[in-house]
Amino acid sequence: MTERALATGVVRTRAELREALASAARPLGLVPTMGWLHEGHRALMRRARTDNATTIVTIFVNPRQFNDPADYTRYPRNEARDLEICGEEGVDIVFAPPVEEVYPEGFQTTVSLGPIADPLEGAARPGHFAGVATVVAILFDLVGAERAYFGQKDGQQVMVIRRMALDLAIPTEVIACPTVREPDGLALSSRNVHLTPGQRAAAPVLHRALLAGRARWTSGERSAETIREAMWATLNEEPLAAPEYVSVADAETLRELDVVEGPALLSMAVRFGDTRLIDNEPVP
Ligand code: AMP
Repeated sequence: MTERALATGVVRTRAELREALASAARPLGLVPTMGWLHEGHRALMRRARTDNATTIVTIFVNPRQFNDPADYTRYPRNEARDLEICGEEGVDIVFAPPVEEVYPEGFQTTVSLGPIADPLEGAARPGHFAGVATVVAILFDLVGAERAYFGQKDGQQVMVIRRMALDLAIPTEVIACPTVREPDGLALSSRNVHLTPGQRAAAPVLHRALLAGRARWTSGERSAETIREAMWATLNEEPLAAPEYVSVADAETLRELDVVEGPALLSMAVRFGDTRLIDNEPVP
């Protein structure tokens, strides 16, 4: 399929977006992405299409959410391919703005988040969630969708955005969709393209480690430290994996647990060379 398969086409400016939205059937489902689209993004688009009369995908590599400038520069981009995928998935509108259309000259406001953004990815990547929340607030406001779709793969991100939407009275419903994985368990991610063949072969260790943690929980273990140790042990079997953190946290607050009494989130960040991967598994 080609770009022409998009019902409304690509819009680049706020004015074009407004015009496209004016005639769009409601309800409207929004899928924010940074492009380099894969099956995980496709799953969000399909869910948005099922639930809504119009589906809009945004493609914007948001400079404000990269705490590491090198990571921003090397983030993979292929808009032509992305537009083909959007066409194949029956997306109605693609909003792919240049940076200055999202952040006009003089821009200086940032969303300030609460404790939900502090641990895990928030601690490992200072400023990351403020950048995410700020761009999502702008996109929510520009699009005015009834629903927006996010992947559970970025579990803390969904929680941060849901909290922000509630607190700022943004009327867009935040919907989390399951993580899409490769057959060997590796969560799909745009960053996987950077893995060398050896690192790619090693990367499913994240999922194996999460499953090892989950297996402990399933067999009745409730000590968070023992579950963490099971995940570390699996990660340590893989010489190419350099773990950054391994977490067993309260599923609501993301505070690290001593005892797993209620719903928890098992999560981790692991480096393979320059490439940093994250994954998580809710328990139960
Ligand atoms: P990104 O383009 O990486 O910013 O991701 C855009 C959206 O797709 C985010 O809501 C991600 O959580 C979601 N996403 C990324 N990878 C996956 C995946 N493997 N499964 C489900 N959703 C995903």
